[in-house]
Amino acid sequence: MPPGDIAIAGCGPAGLTAALLLTQAGQRVTLFDRFPAPGPVGSGLMLQPSGMAVIERLGLTSQVMSRSARIDRLLGLSASGRTVLDARYDELPGPPSYGLGIHRASLFEVLHEAVATAGIPLEPGREAVGSTLDERGRWLQFADASRAGPFDLVIDATGLHTPLAPRCGRELPYGALWTTLPWPQDGPFRRDRLEQRYRASREMVGVLPTGHRPGHGEELSLFWSLPADGHAGWLERGLDRWRHDVTALWPECAALVEQIEDPAQVTIARYAHRQLPHPAQDRLVHIGDAWHTASPQLGQGANMALLDAWAVAEALRLSGDPRMVPALAVQLRGWHVALYQAATAFFTPLYQSGAAFPPWLRDRVLAPASRHWPGKRIQARLMSGLTGDPLARLGLSRLDYS
Ligand SMILES: Cc1cc2nc3c(=O)[nH]c(=O)nc-3n(C[C@H](O)[C@H](O)[C@H](O)COP(=O)(O)OP(=O)(O)OC[C@H]3O[C@@H](n4cnc5c(N)ncnc54)[C@H](O)[C@@H]3O)c2cc1C
Repeated sequence: MPPGDIAIAGCGPAGLTAALLLTQAGQRVTLFDRFPAPGPVGSGLMLQPSGMAVIERLGLTSQVMSRSARIDRLLGLSASGRTVLDARYDELPGPPSYGLGIHRASLFEVLHEAVATAGIPLEPGREAVGSTLDERGRWLQFADASRAGPFDLVIDATGLHTPLAPRCGRELPYGALWTTLPWPQDGPFRRDRLEQRYRASREMVGVLPTGHRPGHGEELSLFWSLPADGHAGWLERGLDRWRHDVTALWPECAALVEQIEDPAQVTIARYAHRQLPHPAQDRLVHIGDAWHTASPQLGQGANMALLDAWAVAEALRLSGDPRMVPALAVQLRGWHVALYQAATAFFTPLYQSGAAFPPWLRDRVLAPASRHWPGKRIQARLMSGLTGDPLARLGLSRLDYS
């Protein structure tokens, strides 16, 4: 296959992974990002067996594992101590599996280092604002009125607020506050669990171990559910009252929230549910959050981004023609994306909502069902990102962690 010229806008998990895979496939890739210097923001996320299948094929498993925490179980309890979520990776048939809690920065660093080692050009400070098509190919336009191209293919990996596609979808009524804290060495938390506490679905506090981040030591992410329009009210109420709310729901978190002395230590994340109706266009494909976004309740976004990136490379391998890539990549991923968008839309209100029925359904129907076969297995497959069998369709297989 002759090398084509490919532009990737956005250096999140989707963009960096696509750059690595397409460079390995012999393409000439240029990455663009709006950040002035490479550097990620955000806190923890979960890498699932689905996403790890791609990390493994990139040869980056050991680097990722050394910077993350092995998560065997997701455990959620109500304020009264009732188990409302208990999902275990060992319910998955086949090779032993687990999730990985990792700081977003650690994942970025592993992928970014691999991009640098592969010598892939990355142009920072380049904020894409649109793209145009002419007979020579597709061009990227930037905020400073410059442009780059022509490219045989442009990959939009600019995330939720992509400027390369029309707006779509809706903001979700709940988001969350997130912060990263040192792991309390003698604390009550388990390194192998993502744990949450709920009051109905109005309040939720969670602790996600994120392993060792170079230069920072062992860490965790603490998150607190918040209505999307509740940030100003939260600031007004003050940290003392928030600390009280958190510890009233989960007393063991007292030593964590005491470390937060300034609201600026806490980041608000707003969630959206959206899916582009036309992710494949002439020499342009949208991947990752630029294509589809959902609340992180099922912990899939970064994993979906990795699978999308793999699909782009797989589409190129199968077709041998960059012009065929958008439609084929979307075809390879469309079913799994639609399935998880629907599943996330169903499950999110069970964990974040002001209404009474969703938590009732969660506590009285779904939680008991998930404790028995086949509920246990269905739940494990869903959180692992494997419902709908996305790997087989992409020529990938599950990483054997044993
Ligand atoms: C609070 C929270 C918790 C989450 N937890 C999980 C989890 O547990 N598991 C999971 O899998 N996912 C989780 N996610 C989702 C996950 O973070 C995203 O799905 C994932 O980061 C998407 O990757 P991406 O590469 O598509 O986009 P992004 O990570 O958003 O990267 C986009 C990149 O594009 C760049 N960019 C943006 N605009 C422009 C522009 N105009 N021009 C050039 N560059 C631009 C940005 O600087 C960035 O580098 C969570 C998300 C949130 C908010």
